[in-house]
Amino acid sequence: MIVADDIGIEEVHPDGRRTTGVKYILCDEDVEAIRQGYRCVNCQENFNEAFPEACMVCGFPCREKQSEMFARIYVGHVPGARTGIDVEAEADRMEAEAERRAFEERTNIRVVIGKSLKKEHRA
Ligand SMILES: [Zn+2]
Repeated sequence: MIVADDIGIEEVHPDGRRTTGVKYILCDEDVEAIRQGYRCVNCQENFNEAFPEACMVCGFPCREKQSEMFARIYVGHVPGARTGIDVEAEADRMEAEAERRAFEERTNIRVVIGKSLKKEHRA
């Protein structure tokens, strides 16, 4: 995962604080870790257990809200990203994953999903 400051983006925290945005460039494994609850959807902290009650770093209520937040941020942007495990969908995803890996092997191109978690400001 690549993390870079993004001065074109301003993040508004739940408590009203504003900070310069951070752009996360996540690879599929990163997205998958978040989907499975092993990484905080809010601050990208890694967890030892899936979906802890709350993130120990940012306090995000992962158990309650992570899947919902994940759906808001990633579903529709990341092919195959889903909140629950649906057997058929999971099979599709695995197939897509196998295709992606085959593509990477053929072309030596690493597929990276660049997705800002923040809203862009229009200049
Ligand atoms: Zn967190």
